[in-house]
Amino acid sequence: MFNDDDPRLSQLLDGIVRLASGDLQSRIEVSPARDELDAIIMGTNLLAEDLQIIYEELEQRVEVRTQLLHEAHREMQKMAMQDPLTGLANRSALLAALKSSQDGDDQTQTQPVILLLDLDAFKSINDTLGHAAGDEVLITVAERIRNAVRATDVVGRLGGDEFAIVMPATSVDQAAIVAQRILAALKEPIELPDRTIRCGASIGLSIGEARRTPEDLLMEADVAMYASKAEGQNRLHVFEPGLLLVRRLRSQLLDDLRAAIKGEGLVLHYQPVVELDSGRIEGVEALVRWNHPTRGLIMPDEFIPLAEDAGLISELGLWVLTTAVGQLRTWIDAGVADSRFSVRINISATDLQSLQFIEDVRGVLKETGVRPEQVVLELTEVAIVKGNELDRYSLGGLRGLGVGIEIDDFGTGYSSISYLRRLPVDRVKVDRSLIVGLGTDPSQPPLVAAVLQLVRACGLEAVWEGVETAEQAEHLRSLGCLSAQGYFFSKPVPPENIPELLARTSA
Ligand code: C2E
Ligand code: CA
Ligand code: CA
Repeated sequence: MFNDDDPRLSQLLDGIVRLASGDLQSRIEVSPARDELDAIIMGTNLLAEDLQIIYEELEQRVEVRTQLLHEAHREMQKMAMQDPLTGLANRSALLAALKSSQDGDDQTQTQPVILLLDLDAFKSINDTLGHAAGDEVLITVAERIRNAVRATDVVGRLGGDEFAIVMPATSVDQAAIVAQRILAALKEPIELPDRTIRCGASIGLSIGEARRTPEDLLMEADVAMYASKAEGQNRLHVFEPGLLLVRRLRSQLLDDLRAAIKGEGLVLHYQPVVELDSGRIEGVEALVRWNHPTRGLIMPDEFIPLAEDAGLISELGLWVLTTAVGQLRTWIDAGVADSRFSVRINISATDLQSLQFIEDVRGVLKETGVRPEQVVLELTEVAIVKGNELDRYSLGGLRGLGVGIEIDDFGTGYSSISYLRRLPVDRVKVDRSLIVGLGTDPSQPPLVAAVLQLVRACGLEAVWEGVETAEQAEHLRSLGCLSAQGYFFSKPVPPENIPELLARTSA
């Protein structure tokens, strides 16, 4: 059919080789003969054309896909640099921004300033109103900070309720003005769906000298923030090297506390709870003190929060429980305390949340053989009311052991009447702030009477704490209150003083 000598055959072959090698634009020349061979050449050219179009489409598609992939990658990077809740920069983005504004130093001759901000009441908002409300607060705070700074400032959330702002090329004075603006913005109330709250903040400021690493600067701002928290709420503190010493002392104190809990460093003092009518001491409250080797006796308000922060509170709580119930056993054995005498023990919210604590109470009762009715656990109103299911389960479990349960600091928190009725508690200990004016302020007796009535309407009884004067004691007695506690009767005393006190009041 074909003439072997026809030069178009080798042209066709060449053309196919070119196409096969990827040169999709090459075409094979058609001869004027327009014979069968030309038809094959034309067909091959058409195929080449198709192939080229398909190839180009493919290339376009790959390009689009690649672009999408890049976008997704950028988005992912952004997500990795962004706090998902507030859309602010996260820790790594913030450190990167700080680093790059420090690097700009050489030209501009000015340094960045970093502000570290921590909300003052966030934990209790989260605990009492729930996480959804907590998130709402964080989002609002993020917005207010954003609106208080320049667009070139980088605002980030470092986690929890901690925010940071990097201000490139700023003077300390300028930064302090911005910090005050932020504090003012945060003082405004925050509207939540079913209530309005306020949540101030404490701010620490550090100056981004080029020779410091971003991590160091953040740490310094953090140290300054702690200092402003210690001074009270809604404050700004500028970092100074002396603060590092304060931090070192705190961590030294923490080491000491750890050792004290393990060793012999803690002691319990006991404060009588008195029956108002008879003056009989019906029991004592165990109050922990820390006998520090160099600082002397440290009061619980100073180290309980430290223990809570550092995760030592359970260990401390177990020591208090074991020691106080063991002491009761000793008093019973010595014939000092009768079967109506009780020991009150303060327990922390953390204890309530641990199922181990119920086991610990059970174990201590079994070991000492003390009757459970003679042990009363005091829990603050806040710890009980924030109560989730687990807490209620724990309360039920403790109640099941037969120990008494009392709400401490009653009147300072949020308990509602419906709560009081539902909770497995026996008594409330009314906070001393409710009786301070008793004997001087004429509006106080009706208030005390009303609180007493309310408590009794819930089927409970009240103990009144913080009684400092004979007038207060007499007022409470005449209003029908049954028991009280306070400096008027006795300060908290070491255990060796209790037998004498008991002997004196029963005589
Ligand atoms: P709290 O449970 O409300 O204890 C009563 C505090 O009021 C005690 O202070 C007590 O010394 C003091 N107080 C007693 N009577 C009067 C009075 O007439 N006037 C005044 N102004 N104060 C009076 P303390 O011992 O410093 O304890 C402070 C807080 O530390 C306690 O408050 C309690 O929340 C906590 N705490 C004490 N011991 C323990 C413990 O073993 N475990 C736990 N988790 N917390 C404890
Ligand atoms: Ca108490
Ligand atoms: Ca109290």
